[in-house]
Amino acid sequence: MSERGFAHRLDAVVESATLRLNGMVQRMKAQGLEVANFTTGEPDFPVRAEIKKAVMEAIEADRSKYTPVAGIPGLRSAVAREQSLVHSSLPSWKAAEVVVSNGAKQAIFNALFALVNPGEQVLIPAPYWLSYPEMAKLADGDPLILATDVKDGYKLKPELLRETLESLRKRGKVARVLLLNSPSNPTGAVYTREQMQALGKVIQEHQSVTDEKLWIISDEIYEKLIYPGHEFVSFLSACPELRSQTVTVNGLSKSAAMTGWRVGWSLAEESLSKKMEVIQGQVCSGINSLVQWGALAALDLQEDARKAGGDAELKRQMSEYTRRRNRVFEILSRSKVLGLWNPEGAFYFLVDVSRAFLPGETAEAYCERVLEKAQVALVPGTAFGAPTTVRMSFATDMETLEQGCLRWVSMEG
Ligand code: PLP
Repeated sequence: MSERGFAHRLDAVVESATLRLNGMVQRMKAQGLEVANFTTGEPDFPVRAEIKKAVMEAIEADRSKYTPVAGIPGLRSAVAREQSLVHSSLPSWKAAEVVVSNGAKQAIFNALFALVNPGEQVLIPAPYWLSYPEMAKLADGDPLILATDVKDGYKLKPELLRETLESLRKRGKVARVLLLNSPSNPTGAVYTREQMQALGKVIQEHQSVTDEKLWIISDEIYEKLIYPGHEFVSFLSACPELRSQTVTVNGLSKSAAMTGWRVGWSLAEESLSKKMEVIQGQVCSGINSLVQWGALAALDLQEDARKAGGDAELKRQMSEYTRRRNRVFEILSRSKVLGLWNPEGAFYFLVDVSRAFLPGETAEAYCERVLEKAQVALVPGTAFGAPTTVRMSFATDMETLEQGCLRWVSMEG
C-alpha cells in the first residue's frame, strides 16, 4: 500500500509539466507581473464563425442528449471521408472504424488501454510528447525510450528500431506499440515518406519472425501545420501494408484552433475500434453532444476547402506561424549559448540550453531562473525526455514573442 493509500499505479506517474508551469505563470500574472508565456501548445487564432454557429443551432434544437459513444454518425462519416482522402492508396475508411474522443489525448489513451498488457513495451522515440510515457504506465505497460539526435533531424533511425526489437525478442519481451508523432511536439520534426517507409520495413521484418503484433499509434495532430519546404506524410500513406496494425490519431485542437472543445478521434480496424469504444463507454461515454455539431461543421469546412484547392484561412494562419518562427529564430540566434533547430512543422522550438546552464543546473532550475529574471515561461525539456533543452511555443502574438525573446537573449548576454 502506498503511503496515503493511493494506488501504486500512480507512484511513477508525473503531473503534466506544461499544465503545472502554466499554473505558475497564472499566479505571477495575478500578482500583476508581465510574463511572456511560451509554455502552452495552443493556437491563438479564434474559432471560425461557421463552427460556432453550428453549436448555437444545436443548442437551440436541443441536440443535447447522450450521443452514441463513438460519436454522432455524421461526424464519424465525415472523419472517415477526410481520412480516406489522405490515405488515397488504401480502401476507404468506414464510419465504424472511427471513434470520436475527448481530444486526441483520449484517443491515444483508449488505444494504449486496448492494446497493452502488463509489462509489455511501448516504444517511444525521444524527445516525445510528455503524456506518452505516463499514459503507457497508466496502461501498465513499460515505456521504452528510443533516443534520436538533432543531427538526424530528430528522426528515429531504422537501425535503432531494428536493434531494439531484436534485443527485446532475445530477452523474451513483447514490443506492443510504437508511438510515432509527425509533426512532432516538441521538436517540430516531420518525417519524410522514405523515413517512414524505412521504419515500416523494420516493422515488417520484425513481424515476420514473431507472432506478437507490434501496433503503431501514429499521432498526426499537427498534420496541417507544416512549414514551406516540408510535406506532411501520414504513416499509412507511406506504409499502407501496415493498415491492420496502425491506429491513426488526429483531431481539431490544432488544425481548427479548437483546443478547449476537446474533439479528437482514432481510425483503426473495426475490431480494435469496437474495443476502444467499450473503454470510452465505461469511462466517459460519448463526447459533449453540442460540440460534435461544431466539429462536423469544422470538417465540412475542411472538405469544402480541399475541393476548392486549399484552405485560405489555414494558409493565412500558416503564413503567420512562419513569420513568427523566422522572427524567433532570428532573435534567439543572437545568443551564443542557445542551440537552435528550425522546426519543420507544429509551433515549437526545442532549444538546446546546455551551454546556458550554471554549474550543476537542471532544465527545471534554468526555466525558473528565466521566469524570474526575464519573465519568460518555458517548459523544461526533462518533461520530453530531452533534459538539456527547453521547449518554447510560438503560438503567441508577435509582440509578446519579440519582447520575451529579446528579454531572454539579453539575460543570456
Ligand atoms: N498529441 C500531441 C503530440 C500533442 O501535442 C497534443 C496536445 O498538445 C495532443 C496529442 C493532444 O491533443 P488534444 O488537445 O486534441 O487532446
